[in-house]
Amino acid sequence: MTRTTPPRPLDVEAAFPALAAHRRTATRLHPRRGSPTMQESSVAGPLLWPADDPWPVCTAVHQKNRGHLLSDVRLRRRIQEAARGREYTEEEQRLLDGMAQRGHRPGLRDDDPLPMLAVAQLYVREVPDLAGPEGHDLLQVFWCPFEVHGDDRTVEVVLKWRRSTDVGAVLTPQPEPPVAGRAECVPTMCVVHPERVVEHEYLGLLDEELQEGIAEWEEGLLDENEDDGEGVSSPGSYATYAEYEAAMAETRAGEQEEIDYMSDLSIAPGWKVGGFASWHLTDPAPVDCGVCGAAMPPLLTIDKWECDGTSRSWLPVEDRDAEDDPSIIDPTDVHLGRGLMRVHTCPTDPAHPHRLSFQ
Ligand SMILES: [Zn+2]
Ligand SMILES: [Zn+2]
Repeated sequence: MTRTTPPRPLDVEAAFPALAAHRRTATRLHPRRGSPTMQESSVAGPLLWPADDPWPVCTAVHQKNRGHLLSDVRLRRRIQEAARGREYTEEEQRLLDGMAQRGHRPGLRDDDPLPMLAVAQLYVREVPDLAGPEGHDLLQVFWCPFEVHGDDRTVEVVLKWRRSTDVGAVLTPQPEPPVAGRAECVPTMCVVHPERVVEHEYLGLLDEELQEGIAEWEEGLLDENEDDGEGVSSPGSYATYAEYEAAMAETRAGEQEEIDYMSDLSIAPGWKVGGFASWHLTDPAPVDCGVCGAAMPPLLTIDKWECDGTSRSWLPVEDRDAEDDPSIIDPTDVHLGRGLMRVHTCPTDPAHPHRLSFQ
C-alpha cells in the first residue's frame, strides 16, 4: 500500500511568495512493520552487502557486554504487540520475566570489535532525495547501539554508499551485535513507503520580515477561529461524562483544523530523507562541515513519532483511522536524543565526515 500525505491545508507560497526561496523536497519514508527483501529500501531489513566486504564494526573502547539481548528486545515487542488491548497470558508473562535475567554477554571485552547494527538501506530509485557520491545508488546506514560515543554520548553512525550493480554474492547470515545499550537503539524491521513532499524552512531561520508576516497571519487565523468557537466547560457542567467526552472530541476535531506554519506548513514529521531540520526544542544550531565549512543539510532524519498531536495533518490518508496504533505512529521503536536524530552530510563532498544533530 502506498502512503499519501494529505494536501497542505493551504498553499503557503501563495500567501507568502518569498517562501519559494526557502522550499526543499523531502522523501518521507513511512516505515511500517514488515519483511523487506535486500532488493528493497527498508529499516533494519536485510542488506545488499557483498559476501567479501568486511561488515562495519565498532572499535571504540566501551562496555559491550551488558545491556539488552537483541533477541529479547524483539521477543518483548512481539509479545507486547500480540497482547495489545488485553492482559498478558501466563506464558507471555513467564517469557517477559525471563528476559530481565539475561541482559548480558559475559565473553565480550570492552575493546572487542562489535558488529554494527544494520539500521536502514535506501535505494535512490525509491528515495529521490537521497543525494550521495556520483554514481552511487544505495545508502546503507549502521550504528553501534550504545549511547557512549563522541561529545553527544550517542550511537556511532556509519554510512556506506555503493553501486548496487557492483554487488555479486551477498553476505548471509548478516552479523549484528548480541547486545544493545538500550532497547530503543534497536529498530524493528520495517518496509518503507517513500513519498516525496515539499517542505519550507524552519520558522526561526527565515528572515525577520517573513517571520513577522507569518506570525501576524497566524494571529489573524486564530482570531477567526475564536469568533466561531464555543468553548468547552468543565466536566461538571455536562449531564454525563459521555457528553463531556463527546464535547471534548468535538473541540479536538476543531483544533485539528487550526492551521499553523510550524505544525502544518513547514516540516514533515517522521523518518525522512532530505528536507529541513526542525529546531522545536532548542535554538537552531548551525551544522557545518568540519572539513570545508559548508552548511550541511540533513540527509536522514530518524524520528520517534510518525506524527503527534501537533503534526496530525501529516498523517497519511491511509492511516487516518489508526492514529492511536503504535505500529503506525511509532513503527520502528527507535528513540534517540529527545525523540529525533538527524544525520547531516556535506553537499560539497559526500565523503566528508557526516555530523549528527538532535532534538
Ligand atoms: Zn560502540
Ligand atoms: Zn565538506
